Amino acid sequence: MKHRRWFYIRAAVQVCCWFAFITLVVSTRDPIEDGYLYGLFPRLSLHLGIATSIAARAVLAAFLPGLAVLALSLAFGRFFCSTVCPLGATIDASDKIIARRKGALKPEIARAGRGIKYIVLVVSLILALAGVQAAGIIDPLSLSLRVYSTVVYPFFDHLAKLAFDGLLPIPGLGAAVGPLYGFLTDTVLDFNPIVFHNAGAVMLLLILILLLSLWARRFWCRYLCPLGALLALAGGFGMLRRTVDALKCVNCLRCERDCRMGAIHDRGLATIHGECVQCFECLKSCEHDAISFHAVSPFASGRADATAAESSSITAVPERPAISRRALIAGTAASLALIPGFRLNAARRADFSEIIRPPGSLPEHEFLDACIRCGACMKACPTNALHPSFLESGLEGVYTPRLIPRIGWCEKNCVLCTEVCPTGAIKKLRMGDKETTVIGTAYFLKDLCIPWAEGRECVVCEEVCPTLTKSIKFREETVPNKKGGSVRVKLPYVLEDICIGCGICENKCPVRGSAAIRVRTRKAEVPSAG
Ligand code: SF4
Ligand code: SF4
Repeated sequence: MKHRRWFYIRAAVQVCCWFAFITLVVSTRDPIEDGYLYGLFPRLSLHLGIATSIAARAVLAAFLPGLAVLALSLAFGRFFCSTVCPLGATIDASDKIIARRKGALKPEIARAGRGIKYIVLVVSLILALAGVQAAGIIDPLSLSLRVYSTVVYPFFDHLAKLAFDGLLPIPGLGAAVGPLYGFLTDTVLDFNPIVFHNAGAVMLLLILILLLSLWARRFWCRYLCPLGALLALAGGFGMLRRTVDALKCVNCLRCERDCRMGAIHDRGLATIHGECVQCFECLKSCEHDAISFHAVSPFASGRADATAAESSSITAVPERPAISRRALIAGTAASLALIPGFRLNAARRADFSEIIRPPGSLPEHEFLDACIRCGACMKACPTNALHPSFLESGLEGVYTPRLIPRIGWCEKNCVLCTEVCPTGAIKKLRMGDKETTVIGTAYFLKDLCIPWAEGRECVVCEEVCPTLTKSIKFREETVPNKKGGSVRVKLPYVLEDICIGCGICENKCPVRGSAAIRVRTRKAEVPSAG
């Protein structure tokens, strides 16, 4: 019982890390003091660092913190998964409700299944080698940031606003909660109501991951996580190891049953060190204080340290996780099967003319390689203009940010997305440069545009256009009106050389449904307004 406190200390650290993560998610608001901090969590992923560097054909220094995690894992084992990883914390929380404590998987399947995460890792890296950035879709840190930014935060933002909308008009109560509401709107709540297009598709992946725990606790971490695979390789050499005092152990198997990673076997005495995430749950479970964690030589191997037996303790190191030849072959075969699917979409990229990327984005193919699909830019955008793509930009573009002007526009005096992007997929822009940064070109749909189609005056798009000399101009012409006659009216057209594609015209266009002015990528074929 005396070692139990380590479980609670570890749990407290996990909660603190989760709060730090949430704090960074909610605080991407104007003004941003230090953009580097907002991307800190994805930068901790060595898996993302390696895959993104391979895909982008450049060593990305942004991921140096991931190397620090690797070094710490070599010293202390796979502690990251039970303390820092926000997806691990989310799974631990949901496992309390949905997970089976005793595995529903047969032991031999459970043992063989551990190798799958190495196959996932190999697939992710081979795809990166082929220039396909799939790591960001499945990496636990980009996945967490994406889910919390585009699903969890908007949900609680709406809920809080709804609650205050109900409370504020109540006499007496309204005055009491008013200051709290003011404080929250100044610090945490979003300026606008926010909803993300494709939020369901983002959430789906997390729901699947959480439901996997129906078969085993932390199923994702045990069998599928590619970052977990890397850390298991390092953790196998970690020096901080579970040690069992054979004289105190009564073989009750409580530790084996309670281990969230299934890392204990051999009647409670042996540990698969690469799988142990140092959650200290076994310390809590053992009623006989037979378990402790000690520094042990990383090169210890075999069934128990013979020398440790002299001091009545057993540190079994029965397996060291490694990428097997089978994992390499299976990973390579799976990658070769997947590449054509991604390439098919790559060949169609030219058709994605309505996929408007954030300002400062790298050229499309470089952007797809560097973007880790973390959603930081989407959360930061104050007009809710940036949304996760699903299949609109092909399989390779899944979860990459796209600007949907009908929902929000790129604000003239804003560079937030360029500040928070952790990889440089969106280059940092200074405010002065922003005004001339082109992200697309507007064009009119004459059969929808009020002056063109109905012969009635409308100047909304010209009025809202933020470019200094206005990208929308008029020429007066005689056009047929709805009554069958003709009328003199000012017809709008776009000066394509000046238009920056910010999308505010499309957003504010008063035509119901689809706007009569739309934005496309500049290189796309843009129908002339005549
Ligand atoms: S620069 Fe534009 S797209 Fe980026 S966050 Fe600001 S308004 Fe949104
Ligand atoms: S472009 Fe957006 S989603 Fe992609 S890495 Fe940068 S911040 Fe994350």
